[in-house]
Amino acid sequence: MSARRQPPWAFDHGTQFFTARNRAFREFLAPLQAAGIVREWEGPVVYLEPGERPRKRLWFEPHYVACPGMNTLCKHMGEGLEIHTGIEVAPLTQRSPAGWQLMDTSGGDLGLFDAVVCTAPSPQAVRLLDEHLPADAQLRTVRYRACVALMAGFDTPWQPTWIAGKARDNPVEWIAAQSTRPGRNMPAALVAHASADWSDASLERPPAEVQQEMLAAVAALTGLQMDRATHLALHRWRYALVDADTAAEEPWVDLNAGLAAAGDWCSASRVEDAWLSGQRLAESLLA
Ligand SMILES: Cc1cc2nc3c(=O)[nH]c(=O)nc-3n(C[C@H](O)[C@H](O)[C@H](O)COP(=O)(O)OP(=O)(O)OC[C@H]3O[C@@H](n4cnc5c(N)ncnc54)[C@H](O)[C@@H]3O)c2cc1C
Repeated sequence: MSARRQPPWAFDHGTQFFTARNRAFREFLAPLQAAGIVREWEGPVVYLEPGERPRKRLWFEPHYVACPGMNTLCKHMGEGLEIHTGIEVAPLTQRSPAGWQLMDTSGGDLGLFDAVVCTAPSPQAVRLLDEHLPADAQLRTVRYRACVALMAGFDTPWQPTWIAGKARDNPVEWIAAQSTRPGRNMPAALVAHASADWSDASLERPPAEVQQEMLAAVAALTGLQMDRATHLALHRWRYALVDADTAAEEPWVDLNAGLAAAGDWCSASRVEDAWLSGQRLAESLLA
């Protein structure tokens, strides 16, 4: 759940919203909603097609965002915890009688721990835990799809008649008007997401070429003159969506070794699933 600030704009360039289908997750969200940290994102949602007028699309359940940025929810959950950021943990080696010695990828000592719980996307979790994972551990075979995100900020006003648009059979399959999200007070800005097929095929292409093609697709879908954008940026998410056919069923736990892993790869590719996987893992560790 990411947000990128580029004053006067701010972009939620990863997760766009989350839904709450499970009672436990709704109960978790209730106090956050009361505190204004999580709010419903409301307004017209449409289908977009090049050269056509937007067609109304229905959302059948509340769609939530964290305010003022998607990462606010994670920051709030982390309050009171000791969290170190900007550090890449290196693959685990051998456990000593005293515990797991964690190192960063530059060889820095991160400390000695009784247990290690990993919530990275499964390919990264496998890299970290490889030596200690059974050959048939489900997380080894989970596959992710990529998502290329385009961020565009404008100085000129833009009053879209919709908050988000979905497209089919197009390089771009999602466009969100950032200023329509609650708690975002800023000039016109949009985030466009490319489809999984197009993103997978474009991940290693030159970014400038990818950006040009996405700009052309967004212009055709929205009628916006994208050359008027005063800020443009591209982000390539390598592990965006879990391929549902490959998803695991449970978090992975090895109590004897003091190792565990969870994440959205345990069920489906949604914020709620990531949260539920953490709950399930916590329950089994506490038990
Ligand atoms: C573009 C995009 C759009 C999405 N849209 C939606 C949406 O609209 N609705 C929805 O519900 N979900 C959406 N999702 C999915 C949602 O974001 C994920 O399901 C959720 O974030 C998964 O949470 P997680 O905690 O399992 O993993 P992540 O959020 O991927 O967090 C894993 C963390 O582990 C860190 N990490 C990995 N390796 C290491 C290492 N070696 N050392 C230290 N740290 C490491 C990573 O940096 C990262 O911070 C979207 C995702 C993307 C990318």
